[in-house]
Amino acid sequence: MRQLFVAGNWKMHGDKASIKTLVTGLNAKADSVGDVLVAVCPPAVYLDYTKNCLMVDNIALGGQNMAVEPMQGAYTGETSAAMLKDVGCQYVILGHSERRAIYGETDQEIAAKVKTALTSGLTPILCVGETLEERESGQLESVISQQLDAAVAEVGIDQFSNVVIAYEPVWAIGTGKTASAQQAQDVHAFIRGQLAKLNPSVAEKVIIQYGGSVKPNNASELFSQPDIDGGLIGGASLNADDFIAICQAAG
Ligand code: PEP
Repeated sequence: MRQLFVAGNWKMHGDKASIKTLVTGLNAKADSVGDVLVAVCPPAVYLDYTKNCLMVDNIALGGQNMAVEPMQGAYTGETSAAMLKDVGCQYVILGHSERRAIYGETDQEIAAKVKTALTSGLTPILCVGETLEERESGQLESVISQQLDAAVAEVGIDQFSNVVIAYEPVWAIGTGKTASAQQAQDVHAFIRGQLAKLNPSVAEKVIIQYGGSVKPNNASELFSQPDIDGGLIGGASLNADDFIAICQAAG
């Protein structure tokens, strides 16, 4: 049985005051999420502050991105895996569609970061997903396979049980449009099936989150699908009550 995992991607939102309010709300209700794995991913500059506000040990911390170079060096503006670990991160989101679309990150660059995360002891949350145009032109499976294959080729299938995959259809992110539970399940089953061709036991273990306008009112149906193991939550993770309700729906 895979553990369900819900992570909040705060993106470039928040300041000290709003983070204090949000985390105070999470602290107050953290024990209501049961066995669900939970993480929050604040902006890099607020990781340490968020860690200090968290008063519970069942909400982990994650970064939203990371440099490919693992330690230190002349890379202005970058944050390394060693730095994320130093401030208490267990996870790092990699290859979010905003990083791909706005900052031009390629499958190969993302795959290299996945390798750095694993070798540094961080759990990568590897985002994959298709645009509406790609879905409507019948390219869904080839796009997802390409994104997945690049990472598998870089780190090897045996390492993949230590990778969390987030299936995030780009057309459902921040748009209020959610993939139906069946649409999401179909893609999750496809992803697991692709991994199973290479290593069935790894495929069985891999946590595959769904992301794209998950809210308290649609989380239960999505998370009850056999291949959906929780969610990567954007907008709704900025409200403590909504985020906790989504975590509870995974329990
Ligand atoms: C995301 O950006 O990872 C995301 C899923 O956002 P939202 O929940 O706001 O659609």
